[in-house]
Amino acid sequence: MNIYALGGYEEVGKNMTAVEVGDEVVIIDMGLRIDRMMIHEDTDVHSLQEQELRKIGAVPDDRLLAGKKVVGIVLSHGHLDHIGAVSKMAIKYECPIVGRPFTANIVRQLMKDDGESDKNVITVEKEGYLGDFKFEFINVTHSIPHSSIVALYTREGDVLYANDYKLDPHPPIGEKTDFQKLKGVNPRVLIIESVRVREQKKTPSERIAVMMLEDFFHDENFEFDCLISTTFSSHVSRVRTLVEASRKIGRTPVLLGRSLCRYWSAAMEENIVSQDVLRISRRGALNKFLKEAREDHSAYSLIVTGHQGEPDAVLSRITDGKTPYTFSTGDCVVFSASTIPNPVNEANRYILETKLMMKNVRMVKDMHVSGHASKEDHRELLRAVSPEFIIPSHGEFDRLSSWGVLGEEEGYQVGKDLFILKNNQKMKVP
Ligand SMILES: [Zn+2]
Repeated sequence: MNIYALGGYEEVGKNMTAVEVGDEVVIIDMGLRIDRMMIHEDTDVHSLQEQELRKIGAVPDDRLLAGKKVVGIVLSHGHLDHIGAVSKMAIKYECPIVGRPFTANIVRQLMKDDGESDKNVITVEKEGYLGDFKFEFINVTHSIPHSSIVALYTREGDVLYANDYKLDPHPPIGEKTDFQKLKGVNPRVLIIESVRVREQKKTPSERIAVMMLEDFFHDENFEFDCLISTTFSSHVSRVRTLVEASRKIGRTPVLLGRSLCRYWSAAMEENIVSQDVLRISRRGALNKFLKEAREDHSAYSLIVTGHQGEPDAVLSRITDGKTPYTFSTGDCVVFSASTIPNPVNEANRYILETKLMMKNVRMVKDMHVSGHASKEDHRELLRAVSPEFIIPSHGEFDRLSSWGVLGEEEGYQVGKDLFILKNNQKMKVP
C-alpha cells in the first residue's frame, strides 16, 4: 500500500491524499487553498484554470498520479478546502466522484459554475465500491452537514481518513460521531487532521454556541437598532441558530449574500433544514432590500457574508457605504466565527473592525466554537481506533509535528509508526 501526500501536508488547506493498492488508486478530497487565491466565499473562481491555480499553490499538485489508474474520488465533506478543486482537476481522471448528499449537492453546483459536466458525481449515503476498494462514510460531527470519516477497506489493510472532525456529544443538527462503527475498524493507517491539535483542551459542543447566541439575542439590556450577524455560510447549524434566535425576538431573519443562500438552499433540498428563510443573493435585489429595510431595520435580523472581512462580501460592502444602508450608532454586528489564522484574513478583519469602530457600531466577537478536534479529542479518537500507523494532515510542519508529540505520548514513535509527510511525497506503508 502506498500513500500519496498531495495537498494539505504543508498548509491548512488544499487537502488531497491518494491511496494505492495493487494497480488501483483512490483519491480522498481535492481541496483549494483559499488564502492563496485571495478569494472568499463570495468570489467566483471559475475563470482560473488548474495550471494557474497550481502555480500559485492554490490547488494540490497531483502530478505524482500521472499515468496511474485512479478508480474513484471520495469526498469527506463539503468544505472548499476539501472539495473546491474538484471542478478544476477531477475531469481528467474520468472516474466516479462520490460524496454524501449535501457534499455531492455542493460539488454539482461548483461543477456547474465552472461549466464542467457533473455526470461523474455520485451521491452515496453510506458505502460502496470503487474498483477493488470498499469505501464507507462514517458519520462525524464537524461544522457542515454530512461530514464523514472515510474508511477504505483494502486487501492490504484498512485506512481511516479523519480530516476534518470534532467529537460533539450534542450536535444541534445531524447525528453524533459513530463511535461504535469507528471502534470496529482497526485501521492499518490513520490519516488525521491537525488544525487544532496544539490546543490542550476538548473542543466544546456546538450546543455552547447555541446558548451563547440565544443568551445574547435575548439580553433585554443590550439595545441595538440594526442587528447584523455573520458566520461561515456552510455552517448550516449555526445559520439555523441565528435564524431561530432572530425569530424568537420578533425579528425577521434575512440571509444576504450568494454563498449563504446557496448553502441554505442545498440544506433545504437535502432535508437538513425545513425552515424557509428570506434569501437575497443578487446585488441589485440586495440593494433594493437594504434601501427599503432602512426605514424599519429593527424589524429584521440580517445574516450576512463577510465574517473574515472579505472586501467584496456583504458586510464589508455595507461598512464601506457601497449599499443604500448606512451604519450608525446603535447598530450591532455579531461575529459568530473566529478569524481563520492567515495574514490575509487577519489584515481584512483588522480593516473591517477599525471601520466599524469609526462608525460607532457595537461589535460582539467570538460568538463561536470551533468545528475542529483539539488535542484531547484526538487522543480519544486515537485510543478508540488504535491504528498501526499515523499520518497527520491538514497543517504546516508545526501542526503536523504537534500531532507527533501527541502520538509519542500515546506510545507511537515519529519515523517508526507516525510519519510526517510533505506535499508531493509518496510513502510505502511498511
Ligand atoms: Zn472542514
